[in-house]
Amino acid sequence: MSVMEYPATQHQHFAVFPIAAFNDNYIWCIQPESSDQVWVVDPGDAAPVIAALTQKKLRLAGILITHHHRDHTGGIDALLRHFGKQTPVYGPDNTAIHGISHPLTKQGDYRLTAGHTTLSLQLYAVPGHTLDHIAYLIDDALFCGDTLFCAGCGRLFEGSAEQLYQSLQKIAQLPQDTKIYPAHEYTLSNLKFAAMAEPDNQALASFTEQAKQLRQQQRPTLPSSVARELAINPFLHCDDARLAPILSQHWQTAADSAVTRLKLLRQWKDNC
Ligand SMILES: [Zn+2]
Repeated sequence: MSVMEYPATQHQHFAVFPIAAFNDNYIWCIQPESSDQVWVVDPGDAAPVIAALTQKKLRLAGILITHHHRDHTGGIDALLRHFGKQTPVYGPDNTAIHGISHPLTKQGDYRLTAGHTTLSLQLYAVPGHTLDHIAYLIDDALFCGDTLFCAGCGRLFEGSAEQLYQSLQKIAQLPQDTKIYPAHEYTLSNLKFAAMAEPDNQALASFTEQAKQLRQQQRPTLPSSVARELAINPFLHCDDARLAPILSQHWQTAADSAVTRLKLLRQWKDNC
């Protein structure tokens, strides 16, 4: 099986490249400098991972999981069968996820080792989309699963708008040049909605042109960055009042707090 090759993004100590899965998932691979071993994030499907790593002559060091949804975890068992049951699987402290060997119970600094690779990372609890959702900050690369997308955010399946608001704040407060690696290519549809919410946002309009070109060339629109998301993502604009008039008009109700604006914006997108 030959797989579509996407360019890697270079960070100081590692490179990151995506493996496409299902219709619009990216399984991000983290390849430490001068190593033939990689870590994969959220392998919902094992087959494309096995195909890509075989083609690139890479081995699997370890697996990182952000939350329990099947399209992020469904490949764990088959990857362990293929690459060996000793492969460490780090993820939320949620017994519902089959195959996690190292549950990560609290936020903070971790040093993960597997094979001859080490990852130093900061773990963030980011509940909202699900209650068990975590995000991994490795140097200046954030792997945030379904919490924040380019120009959008994850649906509220389990958490409250207040929880999602706090989670998005954690991401918004990271250094502006932090690269953001969400698990889905939802950018064009998110941009379409974002333009309804913020019709006068020039940064949003110009990035939309860029994103359309990338997708025409079948290239990922990701990674994004904190700076870009602060400029174009309406879900990160709930703190200021710019969204209040359009939300009040749409829902015929007051949109007078940040959490209310996030909740109304999310419901609007859910019904689009
Ligand atoms: Zn999900």
